[in-house]
Amino acid sequence: MTCEAFPSDCQATLTIDLDRIITNYRTCRSLAGGTDCAAMVKADAYGMGIEQVAPALYNKAGCRNFFVANLAEAIKLRRHVPDAIIYVLNGVFPGHVPYFIQHRIRPVLNDLDQIQLWAAVTAADRPACAIHFDSGINRLGLSPQETGAFIGDTTLQACLNIALIMSHLACSDAPEHPLNLTQLQNFTAITRHFPGIPASLANSGGILLGPDYHFDLARPGLMMFGGNPSPRPLPDGIQAAYHISGKVLQLRDLRIGETVGYGATWTAERPSRIAIINVGYADGYLQVFNNCGQTAYKGHMLPIVGRVSMDMIAVDITDLEVTEISPGDDVELLGEHITLEMASEVSTLSQYEILTGVKERYQRVYK
Ligand SMILES: *Cc1c(COP(=O)(O)O)cnc(C)c1O
Repeated sequence: MTCEAFPSDCQATLTIDLDRIITNYRTCRSLAGGTDCAAMVKADAYGMGIEQVAPALYNKAGCRNFFVANLAEAIKLRRHVPDAIIYVLNGVFPGHVPYFIQHRIRPVLNDLDQIQLWAAVTAADRPACAIHFDSGINRLGLSPQETGAFIGDTTLQACLNIALIMSHLACSDAPEHPLNLTQLQNFTAITRHFPGIPASLANSGGILLGPDYHFDLARPGLMMFGGNPSPRPLPDGIQAAYHISGKVLQLRDLRIGETVGYGATWTAERPSRIAIINVGYADGYLQVFNNCGQTAYKGHMLPIVGRVSMDMIAVDITDLEVTEISPGDDVELLGEHITLEMASEVSTLSQYEILTGVKERYQRVYK
């Protein structure tokens, strides 16, 4: 691979801490009472880089089960974890079966059509698959009617090697929501028809709902990266594995009444000093942070003033000592001080959207 040389500090930086992802994964396992955990690495491991994240989890944390959304993600992942179990959440479609077989990938079968497609083509050697039952989210999975039909069809079941049955919670981020218990009861009832087959219900939030939700395999995503799936404080042992830092490009002084940025949406109400930082919406730092985002620098919170531009934001540094900050310095946009939770709260974006919205443009550093 060739790579053009340029100074490493000319871009904003996204640092991904693989050791923390490993620690977070282990913490997920212990929060799940020792239940085995799969790693949800769809969408390029929530934007954190599946090539780096998946082998780290496989080699250093003993993670053996991985889930991605589609077949393309699975085939890419196969190169990086040759011996892992890989599931595709979207299931199988006509023409896809040979790829699943060739790359030893397991489909999560979401309806009777997918089940029949998989059973027909593969009945002879019966490669492993998962069955997804919809217990109340009304998204993917067998509907209650299909579930009844499938449970009654032992001939069809005999054509399959069901390695896992699963369902997905709609409201795991709201522990008090009554749908959690409804889904738990629905899924528990289904599991009784599949004795001996491992069952899986809990995502990150589900792990925190308690032992009833853990079954045989949990499926954390967000919490592995340090996001908080619940309204309660982040559990001990879960730490931000992401860090975005932007660089100060320029400092400027404003008189009272002067404005900042496109649309002149922020006006200095006191003599002010601002710093221009080299991150904008083209990096995934969206305009939902206009006049409400926060950045952190040496223990100070520096609010975003004005609109987010394509390549820049402005932050108010009036309260810093003049000599404390200068061009070239790094300011935290996301990380230990500006957590996903905080960024989500001010912007109304979900933690998931913020994480997966991080663009390729950053210089990426893995540690
Ligand atoms: C994305 C996903 C998960 C992981 O959810 P988190 O809230 O990120 O832990 C688990 N199960 C399914 C089916 C998913 O689609």
